[in-house]
Amino acid sequence: MLGGIVGTGAFATNVVSASDPLPREETKRFYTHQDVQDELDSLQRRARGAFELEDIGDSLEGRELTVARVGSGDTDVFFTTEQHGDEPTGTNAILEDLREIATTNTPLARTVRENLTVHVLPMHNPDGAMRNQRRNARPDDYTWEDPYFGEQSGPADPNRQHYFNLDEEFLADADEDEFDPDVGIPDENPSPETQAMLDYVVPLEPEWVADLHTQSFMYHGGDYNPGDMHHSSNYWFINEGAVDRNPEGHELSRRMNVAMYDRADGFANAAVTVYPGGTTLNIARNAHGAYGYGSILNEMTGQIDDRGNRMEGQMVRIMREENAALLEGTADGSLDDLDPDRVEEIPDRGDAWWWPWDEGYRPEPE
Ligand SMILES: [Zn+2]
Repeated sequence: MLGGIVGTGAFATNVVSASDPLPREETKRFYTHQDVQDELDSLQRRARGAFELEDIGDSLEGRELTVARVGSGDTDVFFTTEQHGDEPTGTNAILEDLREIATTNTPLARTVRENLTVHVLPMHNPDGAMRNQRRNARPDDYTWEDPYFGEQSGPADPNRQHYFNLDEEFLADADEDEFDPDVGIPDENPSPETQAMLDYVVPLEPEWVADLHTQSFMYHGGDYNPGDMHHSSNYWFINEGAVDRNPEGHELSRRMNVAMYDRADGFANAAVTVYPGGTTLNIARNAHGAYGYGSILNEMTGQIDDRGNRMEGQMVRIMREENAALLEGTADGSLDDLDPDRVEEIPDRGDAWWWPWDEGYRPEPE
């Protein structure tokens, strides 16, 4: 049921009746939405210090969106995971991080609890996650006419809806390749999940936002040699209007990338590279730069259909190292000492064989 069968449309609509289990419920490998809620409740009971849960809204189908807050420091940082419901690694990694920070006395847990308040939205798109699909649960007949709104991957891709809280004056000045003022912003965000995050995080003005994803199966070479794999491809915000408006956040975001590279490249044989991401304002990485803070993307290799347990474990370990680099570097101030121009040292990942929004089966590698 989880797929991996060449020739089936990996992103075809799942027609699910009320009595059928959703695809995510048919495996024990990844968290369901209820698993996430249960884990957050359990952490709240076991936490050693400040730990709060706040419901910030509901998904389109009414699943709770819950932010966990851990720590009592003055500096706020924010993680969101699984904006794309077929990318569960960030949820696995961040729940392990939350467990360590909230319930243990490791050096990381102590320094983070003392110096930071870590805000986590650990399953941004629960309706998509329960179907193991990229988009949210907008019905197919709900369409938008402009690619900004996510027609690449279905009626509503939550990671294409992050510019709804930007001011009109700023948007009016945007490069027309990056935002078309004639199209404008509709009255309603097609992702209530993303709107809930925006209404929470934009007024918070955190030090940074980290957006955790996975990327399509990626190897350096022309075959499936695991020794040639990219493990984590990361990026900072590059939208020109956002960089002009927020040069400090741009520097910080590049320092964050250097910190992740220094910590994780070579860890568990990881190859860390730069993700070939775009410039448009609607995606989280660029929009949150424009809102005025640091903003990074982390893409671990392998969509949900690509992976076995061993690979998932490796990806979670590597991602946790990267998260730790961001948390420790922010908590102890060492991030400030890094040279942002060292992002030039990080190799490029290069383009994809296929993107998650491509039609049909995945081509074999050359
Ligand atoms: Zn994604």
